[in-house]
Parts: sequence; structure tokens; C-alpha cells
Amino acid sequence: MSGQGFTTKVVHSDRLLNQEHGAVHAPIHNSVPYVFEDAQGLIDVFQGKQAGHVYARSSTPTLEALQYKIKQMDNGVATVLFSCGMSAIVSSFLALLKSGDHLICSIFLFGNTTSLLGTLKGYGIEVTMVDATDIEQVKAAKKVNTRMVFVETIANPATQVCALDEIGDFCESENLVYVIDNTITSSYLFDATTVKASLIVTSLSKYVAGHGNALGGAVTDTGLYNWESYPNIFPAYRHGDSAMWGVTQIKKKGLRDMGGCLSSQSAHLISVGSETMELRMQRQCQNALALAEFLDSHPKVAKVYYPGLKDHAQYSLANRLFKDFGAILSFDLVDEEDCCAMLNKLDIVVSATHLGDNRTLALPVAPTIYHEMGLETRQKMGISESMIRCSIGIENTEDLIEDFRQALV
Ligand SMILES: *Cc1c(COP(=O)(O)O)cnc(C)c1O
Repeated sequence: MSGQGFTTKVVHSDRLLNQEHGAVHAPIHNSVPYVFEDAQGLIDVFQGKQAGHVYARSSTPTLEALQYKIKQMDNGVATVLFSCGMSAIVSSFLALLKSGDHLICSIFLFGNTTSLLGTLKGYGIEVTMVDATDIEQVKAAKKVNTRMVFVETIANPATQVCALDEIGDFCESENLVYVIDNTITSSYLFDATTVKASLIVTSLSKYVAGHGNALGGAVTDTGLYNWESYPNIFPAYRHGDSAMWGVTQIKKKGLRDMGGCLSSQSAHLISVGSETMELRMQRQCQNALALAEFLDSHPKVAKVYYPGLKDHAQYSLANRLFKDFGAILSFDLVDEEDCCAMLNKLDIVVSATHLGDNRTLALPVAPTIYHEMGLETRQKMGISESMIRCSIGIENTEDLIEDFRQALV
């Protein structure tokens, strides 16, 4: 299996788990409890001596099939699914950090993750946010109580690319848990094991599901972090294969105790969506580059933010690490006043938040998704007040360019 290409593995993943009746998709199991032939069977599953399901908050056969698929996509050793990306992120933080611990984060993060960091501070977890495109800033932030470093791949909306490989080397030498939110690149564009990520977090709601019809999240353990040396693993999870300790704790805390579980219905939609992720992303990246180049040469556009443009500060890093440059692009208009008028003139491109959708979506960044954090934080994150963010879809390239051309006259 391991020698096969990305999509070959994905489309045959369910089938190879021996589904009943030869089904090519894992069936949607809606049952909440699971019954055993005798009490010992129930006891064995509870005690982890036997694989199985007892209650849908922790697992179902449908979730197990998707978990296996995401684990393969991420090149990991184990995956846990969540109700959405935020649930995957908060569960990783709350399961692995405690009061008095220190967390280093990129300053270029999804807005809700930045907001969540404020909540963590209230629980006594120290957080330092740094410009993680610069490895020296990450190194300088390290303290004796630092446990974890958290970064994204291509930042939304201003498309900065963190020093992902150098941070990986640093985390390895300092024995820090390295968490990469791989949502914007996805496992198809970026194999985060190549930069030594310990955990890969993904919002499945975006490119993996792809159709704007399901929320989901995942945490994959890459097997590269040695949990035996991690002080916050509870005694209950310090037995058996130590590669599973971290992911078991995230699962027990995040799903069983905190209830961030995915439904089997959504898992099915995500699983079907994942079959075409490579094809969709290839088209989306192609469209994004064509549009970035079109906008970059347009007299009404002041600046385009896209890592595939050669004057992007991290172009060569992105070129080296990723299969392609992704499908998020942002731009500033010369005349800031025109922002909403331009968006209203677009016919095909819809004004909406969300990203990774089949449809191209655009929104004014400062008054919407980055409104709550205020002007000062926006400036630190490189977000201009007139920035428009686009998540490029799978429409035909000429139609997208034509839509922007007519809206920019
Ligand atoms: C959307 C997103 C999330 C949150 O995912 P949800 O599934 O919407 O909860 C986290 N990180 C990044 C980078 C995202 O784009």
C-alpha cells in the first residue's frame, strides 16, 4: 500500500477494511450503544484488551474507517476525529498542557485559534506569540516550562509561510511537541512528517470535505515524538505502546470527557469528499496561480498575497516544502473605498467566510473574520484594512478571471 499514490490509497481505503456486502463505502452507523454477547466482551473493550466500540461519543465503525483513511493521508501512526477543526485544536491543547506550562505559537494564525489562546491564558497556560517565519524568534521564546510549539503552514489571510523545517529541527533538539495545523495546505500539498511534526491538526471542513456540507477535524500523531519523556501524560495512559500515549490522552480527554465527537453522518460526507481532494486541489491551485498573476498585473490592485508569486517573501521555502502553493490568495485594492463595491459586482465569486470550498469565496477581512481582534493585532499579522481574501474554487479558470476583470473596471 505505502508505495501507492495519494488518491489510489484514499479511494480504496474503506473497501480494504472488508465492509459488509462488499460495500465500497463504510456504512453510516448511527447506533450510539454497542451490545456484546456477554459481559466479558464489554469489559474487554472498556479495558482496551479488545478492539471495538461501546458508545458513539468515543467511536463508531464509520469513524474508525475515516480515521484509518486520514491516518494514511497524513502518513501518521494514529488519528483521532473531532466535530470540527476548533475541537481538534482545543482538545490537543487541553489534553496535553496544564497550568504553568508554556506554549509558543505563530502570530499568523486562524482568528479563532488566536482567540482560543486568550482563553488558555485564563487557565494559567502561558502563551508567547512570535513571527514564526523567523526561526530566531521561535528560539528566543523558549523557556524552561515550554512544552509545545503550534504553527500553521500557509497563514490565512496574508499567506506567510512559517520556518516549518527549522522549527521542526529546533523542536526535536529541545524535545518540544511540534503541532502543525495543516488545514490550508492539506496532506496532499504538504506531508508534515517531512519537517518532523509531532501532531498534525486538520480542519476536515475545508479541503478534505471540500463541498461545504460537513464540519470535521482531525489530530494525527506522526509517531515522531517520544511520549515517554512528556511529563503531562496521565498514569492511566502510560502503559502499552508509548507511541499511542499522546493520541490516547487526546482521545480520552477530547472525545470521552469533553465530547468533541464527530457524527457518523458527517464522517461519511467527509470520507466521500476526500476521494477527490487531490483532483480538486490541483485545479484550485492552478486557478489560484492564474488569478494571482492576473490580479498582480491589474492597475487597480495594489498588492497580491500568494506564496506562488516569485516576489512573495517565502516563495522558495513554499516551493521546496509544498507540492503546490495552495488556493488562498488575498489582495489590496489601490483605492480602499472600492472594496465592498468590487465584491458586490462579482457574479460567480460569492461573499462568504469558509474556505477550501468548490466555489470561489471572497470576503473583506478586517471588518469580518479579523474584526474582533482589533487594529493593532491586525497590523502585527500583516492584515491591511482593505484586504480581500479569496478561497479559490474549482470553477473554470477563464470564468474566474473574467469575473474579477468585470468587477474591477
Ligand atoms: C477553518 C480552520 C480551522 C477551524 O476549523 P473548523 O472546522 O471550522 O472548526 C482551524 N484552522 C484553520 C487554519 C482553519 O482554516
